[in-house]
Amino acid sequence: MTALREQLLSVSRRLSELGLNRGTSGNASVRDGDGFLVTPSGMTVEEMTPRDMVWMSFDGKAQGGRQPSSEWRFHRDILQARPEVGAVIHTHATFATTLACLHREIPPFHYMIAVAGGDTIRCAPYALFGSQALSDAALSALQDRKACLLANHGMIAVGRDLDQALSVAVEVETLCEQYWRALQAGEPQLLSDAQMAEVMEQFKGYGSWKQD
Ligand SMILES: [Zn+2]
Repeated sequence: MTALREQLLSVSRRLSELGLNRGTSGNASVRDGDGFLVTPSGMTVEEMTPRDMVWMSFDGKAQGGRQPSSEWRFHRDILQARPEVGAVIHTHATFATTLACLHREIPPFHYMIAVAGGDTIRCAPYALFGSQALSDAALSALQDRKACLLANHGMIAVGRDLDQALSVAVEVETLCEQYWRALQAGEPQLLSDAQMAEVMEQFKGYGSWKQD
C-alpha cells in the first residue's frame, strides 16, 4: 500500500470528523504518478481501507476491484487541466451547500475569501452529478480559484496536496457559515477591489495560504 492511499483515507476521515462529509456523500482524490487515486463509490469512511482507494488513469480507466466515486470525472478533469493542483476535495458541507442551493456567489465580505485564490467564490450552474456537464461547469467556476460552489449540490476545494485542499475546504465552509449568518442580520459590507488586492499581496508571503 502506498502512503498516498493512507493519506487519502486519512483526509476522508478528517472530513467526516469535521462534519464536512456525512455518510457516503463527498469524495477526494490525489495525483499519483501518471494517474490519480480517488475514493471509492458507495462506501462510508468507516468501511474504507487504503486498499479500497481506486487508481485511475487520465483516460478514465479504473484499476482494482472497487468502483471509483461517481464524481470521478471532475476529479480527473481538474487534475488534468491544472498541473499545479495535486489534490481535489468535494463535500456537501452544510453551509456551502445552503448557499449553493441559493445559487449565491460568495462576494468579498471577509478578507479570508482570498484563500480561495481571488475576491469571489463562484457558484457553478447546476448539472447532474457525475456528468461531463458538471465537470465542465466546475472547471470553469474554478478558473484562477482554489474553490467553487456547485449549484444545488455542494463545493469543490483544491490544493497542491491533500493537506492544502483540506485547509481550503474547511476555510470555505467557515466563510459560507459566516456569510450566511451575516445575511440573516442584513446586507454584509463588501471589501473594495483595492482592499482585496492588498490582501492578495499580503497572502503571497503568508504560510500555507501562499499562492502557488
Ligand atoms: Zn457530490
